Amino acid sequence: MGPPPPTGRYFTVHLVEQNVIDLRSDTVTRPSAEMRESAAEAPVGDDVYRDDPTVNELESRAAALAGTEAAVFVPTGTMGNQAAIRTHTERGQELLCDEQAHVYKWELGGIPQLSSVQPRIVDAGDRAVPTPAQIREGYVAEDLHRPGTGLVTLENTHNSRGGVAVPKEHVDVAADAAHDLGVPVHLDGARLPNACVALDTDPAEMLDRVDTAMFCLSKGLGAPVGSVVVGPEEFVAGARRVRKLFGGGMRQAGVVAAPALDALENIDRLAEDHANAERLAAELDDIAGLAAPNPDTNLVIVHTDGLGVTGETFADACGERDVAFSAFDDHTCRLCTHLDVDERDIDEAVDRIAAVAEELR
Ligand SMILES: *Cc1c(COP(=O)(O)O)cnc(C)c1O
Repeated sequence: MGPPPPTGRYFTVHLVEQNVIDLRSDTVTRPSAEMRESAAEAPVGDDVYRDDPTVNELESRAAALAGTEAAVFVPTGTMGNQAAIRTHTERGQELLCDEQAHVYKWELGGIPQLSSVQPRIVDAGDRAVPTPAQIREGYVAEDLHRPGTGLVTLENTHNSRGGVAVPKEHVDVAADAAHDLGVPVHLDGARLPNACVALDTDPAEMLDRVDTAMFCLSKGLGAPVGSVVVGPEEFVAGARRVRKLFGGGMRQAGVVAAPALDALENIDRLAEDHANAERLAAELDDIAGLAAPNPDTNLVIVHTDGLGVTGETFADACGERDVAFSAFDDHTCRLCTHLDVDERDIDEAVDRIAAVAEELR
């Protein structure tokens, strides 16, 4: 027997001992002792043959949570979104989305690369999802010269716009506008559980007017690996074929589905991450030279213009002081709270960041 398996909390201490507070993303969490145990004990089979009981259980739990007929387990959110896009569309069509959408901006041009689909972007601004008018204006009807709009995608929470929790009404009216044009809607819900906790709703409710969605188990929920695509039975069967095409047909995947099942228990506690993010933003906003608006969820955006330095310079300087986070834009940084940081870590991070800001002022 080696040392006891680390828990999330153990690793917080561990990181503090190492002197690093890691706020780069909610993907940096380590699996808890319980998750490691679940992985070790999971009944498994070959999931490509649909023989893995743990994956099957995860897929049915995810579908129930989302209020959809079916779900398919995928290794990453990126694969989930891109498989959904491929399943919804035909080669040559257009996909309409916000210009800051993850599917457009951060997935290596997967829309054209993997689906031969052309993105048409609109600026959704602070609302984070396109308005019905933007959808109607961006829609392209199929004719001899034009390929037609094959899909509208929405994102909730919206990552690049600062973890915005998009209210259900805004999702609904966008979905209705697309459906009126005969266009299906996919929701990139990498952090859908955060949106639901922030808005005091549940995934089934949030998704009831969209056709399909993806959500990650590996972000705020703390699973080591995995996301799910949810939707109608026939769609999910199609997405399962595309998953195979993209190289995501996994075998004894119950080993990773088991900790992902444990992760589903972590939905309600996301409220703690949101409270920590609020605390972090308020404290950073009090530091001269920094501005940090009150966040909706677990992503804190910090503006560094007041210090006269770029986001990158600031993030690098804080990294030297053992607070890790990323530059987001020219003069902004993004800090993310998660399962492995608590209030004390937040306060310690603020002290270190304040010292860096003072040096730069
Ligand atoms: C992280 C993220 C993804 C991709 O998930 P991965 O598991 O990192 O591939 C997709 N969409 C949004 C909004 C995300 O934040």
